[in-house]
Amino acid sequence: MACDMVYGIWESSIQKLPKYLGALQKYNPGTIVEWQHKARDTSTGAYVIGYSLLLLQLSMKNHIYLGSGFLNNSADTLYEGDGVSALFLTAMLVSQERGRRGICLISDRHAGITRAVRECLNFVPPNGVHRYCLRRVCSNFNSKHKNVVLKDLCWRAGSEYQIRKFNRIMEEIKSQSLEAFQWLERIDKEKWTASHDGGWRCGILTTNMSECINGVLKGARRLPLTAIAEMTFQRSVHYFRERLARSTVMLANNQLWTDFAYKMFTCWHQNSVEHTITKYHQFQQSASVVTRRPGGHGVNTHVVKIANRECYCGKWTQFGIPCSHAQKVCAAYMINAASMVKDYYDIMTYKNTYSKSFEPVHSEDYWDVPGFELVHDPTIRISSRPGRNQTTRIHNDMEWA
Ligand SMILES: [Zn+2]
Repeated sequence: MACDMVYGIWESSIQKLPKYLGALQKYNPGTIVEWQHKARDTSTGAYVIGYSLLLLQLSMKNHIYLGSGFLNNSADTLYEGDGVSALFLTAMLVSQERGRRGICLISDRHAGITRAVRECLNFVPPNGVHRYCLRRVCSNFNSKHKNVVLKDLCWRAGSEYQIRKFNRIMEEIKSQSLEAFQWLERIDKEKWTASHDGGWRCGILTTNMSECINGVLKGARRLPLTAIAEMTFQRSVHYFRERLARSTVMLANNQLWTDFAYKMFTCWHQNSVEHTITKYHQFQQSASVVTRRPGGHGVNTHVVKIANRECYCGKWTQFGIPCSHAQKVCAAYMINAASMVKDYYDIMTYKNTYSKSFEPVHSEDYWDVPGFELVHDPTIRISSRPGRNQTTRIHNDMEWA
């Protein structure tokens, strides 16, 4: 009852949603709103809300709700947690139409998502690739084979950056269970392993990163739809303002890159001091780098070719930051390793991402009347029966499984 007084009842809130989203677009040009609906009685222009909740949820989780401002400026990797929607891929196509390339979609192995990606003919390199959440692959693997040792090996195989180490772990899985090995062999290696990814994932193996937006949505579940939309918009504005303030601090500290890249580059630079190097080809700026593990045990040799921006340890390709071996070779050839950090870590890129300003939505008196009516279908509302999970947190894909 108190919820109804503050946020309105479900039925009226659903009717209000098209008006609110229209106002959002009106005051924030560039905002994308797509409707998926079940038409019940087109003669009266009424639509039954069937998928709009899913649409809204996906929209918010994948930043479509924030329109072109977010899609065109955020990092190249997008994440998809739960649910299936062609809308998401539509948004990526919109993004591509605006000249955006190099998008990596990380999702579970849901057949609907795979089918939607397949039907999206433009979603191929260099425009985009589809990758699987490694955590999800391991979960499916364990459901099938029910063995924690094998599950751990599965994670190690997927997260390893070097092909030789991946092959070694796969042989270990094969020696323990041929069936488990064959199950993994049936999945495209480029879709679930860091070693075969080719650098698309930017070092991100799971959909965990998508949960950063969960903080924005926390507490919004179970409210009437328009209240969810209003709350999400307000919190997103706050989210952007916080990060813009952080970028100002980083600039004041004369940081070249975001905190993550700065930490990785510095750590690898310190490690590079311990390496020894043999220079080979001047034109390719190639070299072999020998590393020793702490304590003096174990020796590894890595081949680096600066001209190709690659080290056979795989980390440079994956993270876009010269690894310790590459930094050692750069120093030997008098090359500035810092200049080869990918520009998406650049502090100005980060600042530009969050510099987009949003305009407040005026009061309801100024909202336009949409050209259609949205009707609530009570049969699709989630019940609030006793014992049902009342958490305010947004669940991730693992929990929906
Ligand atoms: Zn390396």
